[in-house]
Amino acid sequence: AEVWKQVPQAPPDAIFKLTAAFKADTYSKKVNLGVGAYRDNNGKPWVLPSVKMAQSALIADETVDHEYLNITGLPEFTTAAAQLIIGKGNPALAEGRVASVQTISGTGANHLGAVFLSKFYDYATLGGGKRQIFISNPTWANHKAIFNSCGITPVDYPWYDAKTVGLDFDGLTSTLKSAPNGSVFLLHACAHNPTGVDPTKEQWHAIADLFQSKGHFAFFDCAYQGFASGNLDEDAYSVRHFIERRSIPVLICQSFAKNAGLYGERVGALHIVSATKEQNNAVLSQLSVIQRSEISNPPAFGARVVTMILNDEKLWAQWQKDVREMADRIIDMRKRLHHLLTNQFKTPAPGGDWDHILKQIGMFSFLGLSEKQCAKIVNDGHIYMTSNSRISMAGLNTSNVEYVASWIDKASR
Ligand code: PLP
Repeated sequence: AEVWKQVPQAPPDAIFKLTAAFKADTYSKKVNLGVGAYRDNNGKPWVLPSVKMAQSALIADETVDHEYLNITGLPEFTTAAAQLIIGKGNPALAEGRVASVQTISGTGANHLGAVFLSKFYDYATLGGGKRQIFISNPTWANHKAIFNSCGITPVDYPWYDAKTVGLDFDGLTSTLKSAPNGSVFLLHACAHNPTGVDPTKEQWHAIADLFQSKGHFAFFDCAYQGFASGNLDEDAYSVRHFIERRSIPVLICQSFAKNAGLYGERVGALHIVSATKEQNNAVLSQLSVIQRSEISNPPAFGARVVTMILNDEKLWAQWQKDVREMADRIIDMRKRLHHLLTNQFKTPAPGGDWDHILKQIGMFSFLGLSEKQCAKIVNDGHIYMTSNSRISMAGLNTSNVEYVASWIDKASR
């Protein structure tokens, strides 16, 4: 019997479709600026030296076996991962108020966080009685899909201002004010995807003030710690600041895909900060129940690699260098692209100048071009990018940046 005849064909994922088109293209100068993965100056994936060292040590270690991890993951991993994002000296850790669970990278952390909220957040009395989460417009496309699939309705809040090609701070703060008390807001901890537009420290303080006065819940997604500034502590600023306020309820999704280059190994964690140790224990017990039915227990190898890096002095020093190297190369590409458009091509810019390329933070830059302009760059220039004019800065290198700038120029005239 044709039991699946009523199943409609789903559209392909935009990013993966773009990568397939790039691969099929035979043009020698083609460039892939779609995918959010780091590339070295030769356009190749980069296995971090710190990861290589940890990997070799693990493979040589005959005591390492393939037994199941705990339901909540490798304890040494979740402890070190929590310290990395929350800060070793943070009292929330010393007071036993952080429930940490190893997840299937950042996506899995978002999903586990969403399931936990859908089961346990007091939507009946908080957030105006609506099962919803406020997400930035725009955001990582998967956020909508993840929350929808867990029965939580994603609602946009303003983030990006097309006129200034920067943060719509007024739009953001007025939504924080007008949202029902106790609303859940998703925040990108740093290096906002897709815009590269982050608040300043002063703006984070003002945002935290509003969370505090409105009793909002902060759902942090941290996929790029270290990628924004090159400094792991600096990039954790927003998260740590919110936790220091004590009265803001906070949850953090953490990914090691980008900052450790462990994309396919799926290394991540979910951390939920509670007001008391008792609540924390209950939260952890329920996370464990959810995790058991979803994935039983998380994968071991990548978590072991990260644990080794976080706990070994030499590897830790090497990793900090590796993260800095990735961030610096990206920052250098921002400078080169900005210089080419501004000084060499004298390209007309959407907001008057191209300074947003320098100001934007992390792996992505939002050029501010129209869909039509992007289509020209893709179709005629063989430069693959999403139609919202997001480019992955990591896809640029010293050999292709001038070619890319020349097509941004052509499309802008
Ligand atoms: N959150 C954001 C904002 C992202 O950009 C990404 C990856 O692109 C993720 C989460 C999750 O990635 P992963 O599941 O590979 O850790």
